[in-house]
Amino acid sequence: MSISSGAPMVHAVDVVKRYGRNEILHGVSMDVARGEVVCIIGPSGSGKTTFLRCINHLEAIDDGLIEVDGELIGYRRDRAGNLKIDSEKAIAKRRQQIGFVFQRFNLWPHKTVLDNLIMGPVKVGGVPRADAIAYAEELLDKVGLADKRDVYPGRLSGGQQQRVGIARALAMRPKLMLFDEPTSALDPETIGDVLDVMRNLAAGGMTMVVVTHEMGFAREVANRVAVMDQGNLIEIGTPDAVFGNPSHKRTQEFLSKVL
Ligand code: ADP
Ligand code: MG
Repeated sequence: MSISSGAPMVHAVDVVKRYGRNEILHGVSMDVARGEVVCIIGPSGSGKTTFLRCINHLEAIDDGLIEVDGELIGYRRDRAGNLKIDSEKAIAKRRQQIGFVFQRFNLWPHKTVLDNLIMGPVKVGGVPRADAIAYAEELLDKVGLADKRDVYPGRLSGGQQQRVGIARALAMRPKLMLFDEPTSALDPETIGDVLDVMRNLAAGGMTMVVVTHEMGFAREVANRVAVMDQGNLIEIGTPDAVFGNPSHKRTQEFLSKVL
């Protein structure tokens, strides 16, 4: 695995998010290098999902800025250099380059596994159907589900559905993958296969931001672990540093509960 020292894939600066009068993120800054895997951990309600959703602009931010691959997301600069809300079309285009894997897989139940994978590339990406099918088959092979090509999602286990969810995100050839607790809704015996797929993806050089409660995975796969608490990023460092010698008292408290 190689982590580039060039411009970061994700550049988030002082991100503030409010819901009504409730401030949920109080100024979160984080850079993620190309090829890097950052796992975000922290107590429930600390803003992990919200921050992830801000990165691909599923949520608009109230202050600060986020760039993905050197380009603003959700906003553009006018001639005077001020931030303006970007067009829906431009936002959609940026978002296509970012894969998002949800806790619940959100597969289309009335489409086969293959159709779930090719819908986006064909309908949104304008990829010729035959090319989309060829790549979808390659991805299904990669996630160990080549034999489920023509099956409906309802016939699959949760873990298999989540692997389809990952393959579906990859079918758009994203440059960044965001995962929001991808294994927390799964039966324990199907979690390992999903984590294996993610491990392989990381080894292949994909840039990944992973919100997870799988501390073993974070320790083993993450280049850095970020800890969120009450709407702040309180600590970020190597797994050894964060798990072995956390500098923040709240990190110690959180880890003592989950490890
Ligand atoms: P986490 O993923 O760390 O558990 P979330 O980002 O889901 O935390 O939530 C952070 C806080 O934001 C919580 O207090 C939650 O209630 C609040 N929140 C999340 N989404 C919304 C929303 N759509 N409207 C209002 N409050 C929200
Ligand atoms: Mg969450």
